[in-house]
Amino acid sequence: MCGIVGYVGRAQAAEFLLEGLRRLEYRGYDSAGLAIMTEQGDFALTKTVGRIALLAEAIADAPTPGTCGIGHTRWATHGAPSVPNAHPHLGGDGRVVIAHNGVIENYATLKERLAADGYRFQSATDSEVVAHLIDHCLSKLEGDEPTPKTGAEIQEQLQTAVQMALAQLRGTYGLVVLFRDHPDLIVAARLGSPLVVGVGPDAHYVASDASPLAGRTDKIVYLADHQIAIITPTGLHVSHRETGQISHRVETLELAESDMGLNGFPHYMLKEIFEQPQSLADTMRGRLSDEDATSVFGGLNMSPQELRQVNRIVLTACGTSWHAALVGEYLIEEFARIPVEVEYASELRYRNPPVEQGTLLFAITQSGETADTLAALREMKRKG
Ligand code: GLU
Repeated sequence: MCGIVGYVGRAQAAEFLLEGLRRLEYRGYDSAGLAIMTEQGDFALTKTVGRIALLAEAIADAPTPGTCGIGHTRWATHGAPSVPNAHPHLGGDGRVVIAHNGVIENYATLKERLAADGYRFQSATDSEVVAHLIDHCLSKLEGDEPTPKTGAEIQEQLQTAVQMALAQLRGTYGLVVLFRDHPDLIVAARLGSPLVVGVGPDAHYVASDASPLAGRTDKIVYLADHQIAIITPTGLHVSHRETGQISHRVETLELAESDMGLNGFPHYMLKEIFEQPQSLADTMRGRLSDEDATSVFGGLNMSPQELRQVNRIVLTACGTSWHAALVGEYLIEEFARIPVEVEYASELRYRNPPVEQGTLLFAITQSGETADTLAALREMKRKG
């Protein structure tokens, strides 16, 4: 899952989109792209393989004025890193454009069906089916329903089209959608892949995490799974798949612009190495009590009696968190004298291990979003 940004307002969209993608670079990616709604009423797509700096150069060579747009950094799951496979992807005859984070598991079946209906695919990605599917659902609604007249009716029709498409997807998505015939409007939806909306006085921002918003606005709305948002320069309407329109909570973003970017370091690894003392202090703040000479783990909601019944601990994680778990194994065994095992979450989720009474599981993830770790957690919860 990589990066998504979106902007709808009065300023030039490309400026926020490029800066936003730069701030999402730390997540890693292989290609990037922007789609901007031009003043002539169509989409200008710019895509490059490699660094955001190349995308910025391409935009500088051929500027695309416009006040609404979306951008994406891709980490390929389906199809090689290439310009045609980079997002955003057009749908139908180009009246829809999308950027997608995540994986569409049933894309092959959908692609076959859409191809039989005459849709032409330009990429090898799973994501492109979402663009064509939304176009397909919109065409169906246009055929079945009277033409919507008011702004509210139009928005409802677009939202319904996206919802009809989402209902056919199996997999995960953070998704942003633009419609050629309805400028100044972004539809955003999420399931298993994060999305936030930044609320400004006469602009709205979308991003796959909060970092692009720092310095633009401190008002942030965290979308939850199965929520869909209709975003215009001055309006934000959030609905839930099952309950319909809901009132969203606007929270305060506590992230300074100086926390972002390289801050004078030549690259992120060096910056993070120098940040380690501060990061460790931040991590432990509030979790050590000098007064009682003990640690205070707010998140561990277990009584001392329950803890005494634990006779085995499983730590599950992926990547860097898995390495942290290996260190934890040594520490817990040394201090708590309880046997510990460290398991790759990507293995644990598909194995069928016996889980005895008295087993305590810790699932560790830096982002809180690691799909394998969440699945392992769900599976172990299911086993009691
Ligand atoms: N599955 C999509 C692709 O391969 C999106 C990957 C991503 O989240 O960056 O294009």
